[in-house]
Parts: sequence; C-alpha cells; structure tokens
Amino acid sequence: MTYDLIIVGGGPGGATAAKFAAKKGAKVLLLEAGKEGRYKCCAGGIPVSNEEFTPIPSGVDEREITGGVLVTPEKEPMDFDTTGEKDKGFCMFRTDFDKYLLDIAHNVGAEVTYGFRVKNIEIKGEEVVVKGPQEFRSNCVILATGLGGAHLQRHLGIEVPPMINGIQAEFAMPESDITEKFGDRIWEFFDRSISEHGIAWAFPKREAVSIGILGQSIKMRHFEAFLHYPLIKEKLVGRKMRIFESRKIWAAPIPDRIISKPYREHVMVIGDACGTADPILYEGIYQARLSGKLAAEIFCKAYEEEDFGELSLARYHKLLLKHLFEEELRYSYKIHTLLYHSRLLEKIIDAAYSIAQEDPEMRQAMIAMFTRSQTRKQIWKVMLSRKRKLMKYLGLSNSVRLIPCLFRAYRI
Ligand SMILES: Cc1cc2nc3c(=O)[nH]c(=O)nc-3n(C[C@H](O)[C@H](O)[C@H](O)COP(=O)(O)OP(=O)(O)OC[C@H]3O[C@@H](n4cnc5c(N)ncnc54)[C@H](O)[C@@H]3O)c2cc1C
Repeated sequence: MTYDLIIVGGGPGGATAAKFAAKKGAKVLLLEAGKEGRYKCCAGGIPVSNEEFTPIPSGVDEREITGGVLVTPEKEPMDFDTTGEKDKGFCMFRTDFDKYLLDIAHNVGAEVTYGFRVKNIEIKGEEVVVKGPQEFRSNCVILATGLGGAHLQRHLGIEVPPMINGIQAEFAMPESDITEKFGDRIWEFFDRSISEHGIAWAFPKREAVSIGILGQSIKMRHFEAFLHYPLIKEKLVGRKMRIFESRKIWAAPIPDRIISKPYREHVMVIGDACGTADPILYEGIYQARLSGKLAAEIFCKAYEEEDFGELSLARYHKLLLKHLFEEELRYSYKIHTLLYHSRLLEKIIDAAYSIAQEDPEMRQAMIAMFTRSQTRKQIWKVMLSRKRKLMKYLGLSNSVRLIPCLFRAYRI
C-alpha cells in the first residue's frame, strides 16, 4: 500500500507529527511496534506548555503539579510552590497519554497500526519502502522510534544520539497517602552518592509514585540503594511495586545530545531518535512533540512542492535549530556542563536555592527550570548575572573547580 507519509513509532513525537500531517489532509500511516496501551518507562512529568499541541484532559493528567522539592545531601529538602498557570505541570502514565495522542491522530484521519515493528527501510528512487510484517510505500518517512530504532538509523546512514540510562518502578499507594507524603509536588534528588550522574526522582501520580534514577553506567544496585535513601525508604514503607507486562522494574535509555543532521532525502528524524531531550532534568516529551510538529510542517510543504529531496527536508533542521536549539537546548547544554561536569552538582543546587530565597528573579528562574515558563536562555542569563554570588556560596576551592566548566559552557 502507498501512503503520503509513514511515521515509524507512536510515542508523543510520532503521534504529534501524525496529527498535524493528517489534519492537513495527507494520507498518513503510523506504525507502532507496541500493543495498544503499552507501558512506557517514563516518570510522566510534563509542563503545561504541552497544551500548545493538545489540551491535557482530566483523567489523562493523573495529578496536577503545583510545586517541587529539591533534595540534596547537606540541606533540608528545599520546597517551592509554582506561582501561576504558566508554571503548572502534570504527572501521568504514558500508557494513557500516548494512547490519547494516538487517538487524536487517528480521529483526524491518520491510520494507526499497533504491533508492527519496522525491520528495514529502503529508499528506492523517489519512493521509501518500509518493511516489517508487511511492506508499505510512501514519499516520506518520519522516524520517531525513540532510542529503539538505532538499527534503522544506522542502516539509513543517520547518526544515533549518545544516550544515558534510566531505571524506574511505580509504587502503588492510595491517593490520600500520596497527597500526604509527596503532595502535588515533583521530588528531584541531586546527590552523586546515588550514582555518578547524581539525579533521581519521585513523581506522584494518582495512585502510584514513579521512583527512578538516571546515569551513564547505572546498575540495578544503584536503584536498590536509592530505595534505601532515608527519605524514600521512609515514604515507601510497606508499599509494593506495580507490575506492568510482568515486570516490576523497568530500564530505558534517554538521549544526551541532539544529532547534527536529522534528515536525508525522504527521511526526517524526530524526538528521542533525534536526541531532542533536555539534559538538565532529562525530560523529552515536550521536545519530541515540538520536533514532530515541525517535521509535519515541512512534510506538508514538501508535499505541495512534490520535493522530498535532501535540500527540501533540510528546512526541518533549520526550524529545529530555531525553535528548539537556539533558545533552549544550547543553553540546557551549558547548564548541563556546569551541573554534571563540575562534580559540584549538589553544591550548585544548594547555592542557587539559597540565592533564590532573597532574590525573586533567581527564584522564578529556578522554578522555570522545572516548569519551562522561561526559556533556557533566560534562565542561563539570570544564573550568569549571579555568578559572583554563586561563587561566594560555593567557596574558593569549589569556584576554582567551576571555572573551567564555565569556559566550556561559554563555548557551546
Ligand atoms: C526513566 C525515564 C523517565 C523519564 N521521565 C520523563 C518525564 O518525566 N518527562 C518527560 O518529558 N520525559 C521523560 N523521559 C523522556 C521521555 O520518555 C522521552 O523523551 C519521550 O518518550 C520521547 O518521545 P518519542 O516520541 O521521541 O519516543 P518514544 O516515546 O520512545 O516512542 C517511540 C515509539 O517508537 C516505537 N518503536 C521503536 N522502534 C520501532 C520500530 N522499529 N517499529 C515501530 N515502532 C517502533 C516504540 O515502541 C515507542 O512506542 C523519561 C525517560 C526515561 C527513560
């Protein structure tokens, strides 16, 4: 069968691309390897900015998030409230969220096929042949496979982003207990004794809490040790992990950097497959959806012009650089360099929080780091303008360690 556009992968990136392309009248086929309602290893925290693409209906948003708690080894947990509608967020299960997005794509005309794993993609002249249990043809393919389609990318001569790994489990708990113990807050842990990378979380949903860690070379023992972290242990006493598809503990990769050329003739790459996730807190849903929307926009232009050549699809990359890299990811990489390459992760968080107590602009910038109510560029500017204060809090020897990272960050 022949389609105008085939999208491989039905996560938030693929579903968003399918919705925008189908809405414009294109004949779209989306192929998803998983079954309908598959479990996805993800903490499921999203900022309200996701409503740029579709509203988040109640039911899918398991819990509205109105604050956060930062946990570091040397301080008491640092609590903050968000200040307005733009700072809100949601925690949800990807099972429901991804299905909701795919249903929207389907309702505007995209054909969605579950349980179809694409094994091979071949470009034959002006046509792309997508092979799996069946064979389909199209003018253009959007690769939205997350990090599960690396072999397809390599086969097409497209770079695969570098990645780190996450391990997570969902603990069942009555809604009222979650509200009492975690509140409507996301809990972020910054502590390099948990793993070398030093980031972990507890994200409350309605009747479950996602507990997870991320890192380059994390192992199950790091995750088990995190379950004994005093604050986590105390909150999880007597709680059981929920089972999804016969597994309690899940592991999944997440990209660390965007790839340099996410297109070639007839093909565009979006979302995690393209490395669009933000490596400060390692969230990637919003970014995957934005890249999906941009790729769909360029697909529609190329379709009108009947030109799916490399130059035509290079316009997708330009849009990605403009809307995602220049004001956002570039600055996320700078902040990432300071946090994760200085070996001062916890101390920087403590210092920034202390400064924020007397400095409303810094406070808002810190909140925006979690809620995306400011661009990463704006946050970086606020942080930089406080660098002397930051160094004063860090002390002389730590500041000396920070300086080379600052220079590296400037150059990004
Ligand atoms: C532990 C963990 C916690 C996270 N927490 C958050 C969070 O709280 N907030 C946030 O914003 N982000 C979070 N992320 C990141 C987020 O999950 C990803 O950035 C996001 O899912 C990327 O969306 P995507 O559409 O690009 O890819 P995915 O969501 O990975 O979707 C890709 C889809 O492609 C399918 N697929 C793969 N290969 C094939 C194939 N060959 N044929 C057909 N289909 C295929 C897969 O089955 C999958 O459904 C987390 C990641 C991890 C690992």
